[in-house]
Amino acid sequence: MTSTIPSTPRSRPITPEAAPGPVSARIRERLQQAGVSFFANDNLADHLLDGELDQLEIEVAGKVREMLRSLVIDIDNDHNTEETAERVARMYLHEVFKGRYHHQPKIASFPNVKKLDEIYTVGPISVRSACSHHLVPILGNCWIGIKPGDRVIGLSKFARVADWVFSRPHIQEEAVMILADEIERLCKPQGLAILVKAQHYCMKWRGVKEPQTSMVNSVVRGDFRHDPSLKQEFFELVKQQEAVLST
Ligand SMILES: [Zn+2]
Repeated sequence: MTSTIPSTPRSRPITPEAAPGPVSARIRERLQQAGVSFFANDNLADHLLDGELDQLEIEVAGKVREMLRSLVIDIDNDHNTEETAERVARMYLHEVFKGRYHHQPKIASFPNVKKLDEIYTVGPISVRSACSHHLVPILGNCWIGIKPGDRVIGLSKFARVADWVFSRPHIQEEAVMILADEIERLCKPQGLAILVKAQHYCMKWRGVKEPQTSMVNSVVRGDFRHDPSLKQEFFELVKQQEAVLST
């Protein structure tokens, strides 16, 4: 005979009191209605309501907990993995993928009063990302070359915007394009060149397990695109910066 006695209610994590259903479903619906893309390397910050990021953290932790159970890891008794789900959720939403869920850091630009038009490079700036295919790290360096336009931004700001753009699941080629778009939007340079050299843990840690391979790609826009000597100068400057590093 089947027992009809209800089982003891188990303690549940605090769930959002707002609309029913997972918060991710509500956010997805809102994005779809607005016709906004939510690919792995898109930023969603403008479409999140107050408090939704906290709710998302609870939801993601729950799903990671289930994934760990599916991997047959005894999270109820293993002291090492007891709080792994919460850590992973926090890490995704606020650290390694913060560029999806958080707004761009505030970056002030200033008029180029001295009408500077000599090119300069900034780098290496460390970049940290993860591949969209396996969510394993992509770690490398980035160099940015600028021929100033009407506005300028502080040197450290390039590192901030690069960190924000790269902190999403990516493929390297798209990451560089997105970074170029953001820098153009911030300071409208006459010319922009970006070079990224990165190691893909996709290839080091798994797959072909090739530890030394790195991927290099670049994007050149404006005067760097139209003037081959300027482009050459950028790559020379990067080489010099690299040489300084290795001394
Ligand atoms: Zn991968």
